[in-house]
Amino acid sequence: MTRLKKVLVVGGGTAGWLAACYLAKAVNAIDPQSVQVHLVESANIGLLGVGEATFPSIRGTLSAIGLDERRFLVGATATYKQGIHYRHWVRPEGATGNDHFFHPFSVPSQRPGGPELLPYWLLGAAPEGMSFADAVSMQSRLVDQNRGPKRLTDPDYQGPMNHAFHFDAACFAKVLAEHGQQVLGVKHHVATVERTELDEQGAIARVITKELGELTADLYVDCTGLRGSLIGHVMKSPFRSRRDVLFADRAVAMQVPYERPDAPIPSYTISTAQEAGWIWDIGLQKRRGVGYVYSSRHTDDERAEEVFRRYLGAAAEGLKAMHIKFETGYRPEHWRKNCVAVGLAGGFVEPLESTGIALVELATYLLTHLLPGDTDDMERAARHFNEMMVARYDRIIDFIKMHYCLSQRRDSPFWIDNADASSIPQTLRDRLAEWKHRPPHRLDFVSDLEMFLVSSWQYVLYGMEFKTNLEPMRSAYPRFEEARREFAMIQQVAANAADDLPDHRFLVEKMCAEH
Ligand code: FAD
Repeated sequence: MTRLKKVLVVGGGTAGWLAACYLAKAVNAIDPQSVQVHLVESANIGLLGVGEATFPSIRGTLSAIGLDERRFLVGATATYKQGIHYRHWVRPEGATGNDHFFHPFSVPSQRPGGPELLPYWLLGAAPEGMSFADAVSMQSRLVDQNRGPKRLTDPDYQGPMNHAFHFDAACFAKVLAEHGQQVLGVKHHVATVERTELDEQGAIARVITKELGELTADLYVDCTGLRGSLIGHVMKSPFRSRRDVLFADRAVAMQVPYERPDAPIPSYTISTAQEAGWIWDIGLQKRRGVGYVYSSRHTDDERAEEVFRRYLGAAAEGLKAMHIKFETGYRPEHWRKNCVAVGLAGGFVEPLESTGIALVELATYLLTHLLPGDTDDMERAARHFNEMMVARYDRIIDFIKMHYCLSQRRDSPFWIDNADASSIPQTLRDRLAEWKHRPPHRLDFVSDLEMFLVSSWQYVLYGMEFKTNLEPMRSAYPRFEEARREFAMIQQVAANAADDLPDHRFLVEKMCAEH
């Protein structure tokens, strides 16, 4: 029996520093002497540098590691994110009918004892033509009026509207690095791992760096990004591609200045569907982060950059674009022997719903929870960890695929292929078949395995104009008039709520000024 005394995180991107901070905080809370957390990062190998939109879980994570919200906003040049606005996803631009929808982070209003509103929305109790999201949540109207999700007086990471953040990925890693070293006691080394030696059981015995010689630990956390230097190259844990389901495998990205320094900052990600993928558009404090995610099977890099520049217009003149390759998929064995992958080293799902950093948070949380006191328990912890991660990946992949396969776009081979049943996982096909007769319900989901709440499935499903025919069940929903009053009430509250919340840019600037 050997007590686990030292963890070495290899890699200093978002994944590396989040993992190091979270582990150090958890260990400190028990006994700072018990386990040491070290992080080694290369000065020569850069970060990926994208990954600017997050998921609401980030608030819990930042709060758990004790990072002050104002310090975070200043350091990471962050803004608030209240959801995702999907443009031209339902139908192509210019087609007859609605082509957009909003996926808000706040859950539908539910008065205690009141009727669940979704069935009544399906049965027509909401004002005619009103989207599900608008009928049950005030968030889209608030973001349309440029409202932030919280007031200046709200406690750190809290506010009336559920939210996440947008930030500059490189700046975020720097804030975490400072916090990890200065507050949480993470030991930092700057060196490039060149070689790894295994012991007789096939576990990692040491990593050899160019600058500092050998570094040893009981557990190695591979955060080397898409390289997967330890988990892939050394531990030979295979990668399971899911490109058959989610086709996007390239991105072209750019950092674009605002037209005016006081331009309004949207507090949501804009996702605009294109002929072979979609474009993200994110407002940070001083610039936009924009990128076209596309499938190399359906377009080429040159055409993608042309489409991307057309979207950006004059704003992109004279700016250089960055091209990135990736693949949706994951390592079923994220954790093998004494090596566990966190972040891109373990896997990635194309960024439509910003799940990359959320998966880092999940892996870090699980790792901390399962961290074996004794190195002999490593294999059992690894089995548990791998099972949970695989389930999460598969559920996320289904959720993202739903956006594509429900689109009514058939204007290019990319969208035609996405609707092809052979590219839709059976689990998703089954769910969609059931939801034709009844709406998604909490009981359809095993909550610990899902990243997305039932409300997210509902917002996207009905935002994409999916049809659930509840007419044969109408008599099971007798609270129609009550539901009608609830819908009217939500509209009334929404009209007043805008007065209570500050302008988004004002909120960000004021929070930063108070730092
Ligand atoms: P990286 O940022 O690549 O960091 C790797 C680190 O490892 C670096 O510090 C490097 O120096 C170090 N390293 C590598 N090799 C060695 C070595 N041999 N020795 C020492 N150090 C080494 N996620 C989101 O949540 N939201 C998004 O909107 C989003 N958008 C994305 C868009 C695209 C196109 C892509 C590809 C990804 C996106 N992601 C997004 C994912 C997100 O970027 C990553 O999850 C996140 O940045 C974590 O990256 P990482 O730390 O694993 O890797």
